[in-house]
Amino acid sequence: MQTLNSQRDKLSRPHKLETGPPDLPASPAQLLAGGVLVAAVIAAICLFGVWTRLAGQLAVFWPANALLLGLFMRFPRLDTPAGWAGACAGHLLAGYLVGDPLHMSVLLTLTNFASVVTGYLLLAQRFGTDARRLNGAAGVLQLLAIASVASAAGGVAGSIVGPMAFGGKAVESGLAWFVSEIVNYFTILPAVLSIPAAGHREVVRRWRQSVPPLRRAVPLLALVAALGAAVVVGGPGAMAFPVPALLWCGMRYGVFPTSVLALLTTSWTLVAISKGILDTAVQVQSPAMLMSVRLGVTLIAISPLAVASAMAANRRLMARLRHMAEHDPLTDTMNRRAFAEHAGSALHAARAARQGVGLLVLDIDRFKSVNDTYGHAVGDQVITLVADVVAANLPEGPPLLGRLGGEEFAVLLPGADREQTRLVAERVRQACAQTAVDLEQGRTMGFTVSIGASVSQPADASLDRLLQTADRALYDAKRGGRNRVVLTDAD
Ligand code: GH3
Ligand code: MG
Ligand code: MG
Repeated sequence: MQTLNSQRDKLSRPHKLETGPPDLPASPAQLLAGGVLVAAVIAAICLFGVWTRLAGQLAVFWPANALLLGLFMRFPRLDTPAGWAGACAGHLLAGYLVGDPLHMSVLLTLTNFASVVTGYLLLAQRFGTDARRLNGAAGVLQLLAIASVASAAGGVAGSIVGPMAFGGKAVESGLAWFVSEIVNYFTILPAVLSIPAAGHREVVRRWRQSVPPLRRAVPLLALVAALGAAVVVGGPGAMAFPVPALLWCGMRYGVFPTSVLALLTTSWTLVAISKGILDTAVQVQSPAMLMSVRLGVTLIAISPLAVASAMAANRRLMARLRHMAEHDPLTDTMNRRAFAEHAGSALHAARAARQGVGLLVLDIDRFKSVNDTYGHAVGDQVITLVADVVAANLPEGPPLLGRLGGEEFAVLLPGADREQTRLVAERVRQACAQTAVDLEQGRTMGFTVSIGASVSQPADASLDRLLQTADRALYDAKRGGRNRVVLTDAD
C-alpha cells in the first residue's frame, strides 16, 4: 500500500502551471566546472574586447562585464566563489595572452569588477527582483536604473585607472568608461537575463504550432526593411527608423527575442555608422559626439523591451487568471464549469470522428466518516490524493479530469470503447484502494472509491445524458457494496 507522501512525491498533477525543475545543490565537480566555464567565457570575451581596442585607447566594445553580471543573475549555479574566481582568472588570462603587464591587468580587472559588483549588489536586493526578471515595464526601467548606477561605478573607477592605462584626462576617461558600460549593460544584460528557462520552450513550441510561419516572420521582415530604409534614406532620423518594427517585434515575440533583436539592431547601427554604410550626416569624429551617438542608438533600441516585458507580464497574468477561473483550488483539477466546456468540445470532436466515448463519475466511499473521525483537514488531503491517483492512472492523451464538487470527480475518455472505459475505471478503483494517507504516530488510513461509468458508441449521447447515466451507475455501485465499478450504456 502506498501512503500519501510517497504518492505525492511521485505524482505530478495534470493541470499544474509549469514551474521548472527544483534547484538541487551543486556537487564540488559541478562547482569547479562552473568556475572553469566562467573563466573560459570571460577570457574569450575579454580577448574579443581587447581586439576592438583602438591604439592606446579603451576598447570600443566590452561585453565582458554585462555578460558576467547577466550570467550570475540568470544562472545562480554559476554565482559561486568558484564562478567569481573563474571570472578573475578569465580577465587575467586574457591580459596575459595579449601581453598586458600583470599590474595593469590586475588594475583593469578591478575596474571592470567595480561595475559588475555594484550591479550585482543592487540586483541581488529584494527591490531588484523585478529588474532581474525583467518583470513588466517597471522591471525594465528598474534594470536600466541599476545598470546606470553600475556604469557610474565603472566610470569612477575608470577615471582613476584609465589615465594610468591609456593616458588622457580623468574626466574624459571616466565618461568614456561610463558610456561604454551603459551601452553594453543596456543591450547585453536584458538578452542574458531573459534567456528562456526549459519550461518556456514548451510555450514557444505551442506558439509555433498556432501561428503560421509567414505571420510569425512579418515583424522581423519589417525590422529588416526599416534597417534597409535607414541606409537608403540616411540622416540623423534614420537611427530611429527601426523603432516601430522593434515595437511590433516586442508585441509579437516576447522579451528574449526582442532583447536579442534590440542588441543586433544597436550593434548593426553602430557598425554601419562607423563604416559609413549608414550616413547619419552627424560628424562623429569627436569622441564626445561618438559617445552621444552610441548612447542615443542604444536608448532608441531598448525602448521596445519595455513593451515586450509589459505584454509578457500581461500574458502571464491572463494565464494565471484563466487557470484560476478553470481550476479547483484544492485539487488543481478542472472545476465543474471548465470540465463541462472542455468535455463538450471533446465530445463534439469524438462524434465528428465517429469514435466512442466513456465517462466516469467517481465518489469517495463513506467520506463523511473520514471527516467526522479524522477532521476536515485529513478529508481535504484524501480528496487531493484521490485527484492525484486518478490523474496518474488515466491513459496518456485526451482524458479530461474535473472535480464535480465535494468528493466527486468526473473523467471523460474521448475515443474509448466499452472495454477501455471499464479497464480505466478498474485501474483507478484499484489504485485508490491501494493508497493510504499518513496519519500521526505512524498510523495510516486507507480509502476506497465507487465509480459509475457510461459509454456511448459512437459518441452520440450528450454530456448531460452521459453524466446522468454515470450517476445512476454510481448509485448502483454504492448500493452494491461500494469499492466497485458499474458500467452502463448511455444510448
Ligand atoms: P458514500 O459512500 O455514500 O458516498 O458516503 P459519503 O459519506 O461519502 O457520502 P457523500 O458522498 O454524500 O459525502 C459527501 C461529504 O463530503 C459531505 C461533506 O462533508 C464532504 N465534503 C464535501 N466537500 C468537501 C471538501 O472540500 N473537503 C472535505 N474535507 N469534505 C468535503
Ligand atoms: Mg461519498
Ligand atoms: Mg458524494
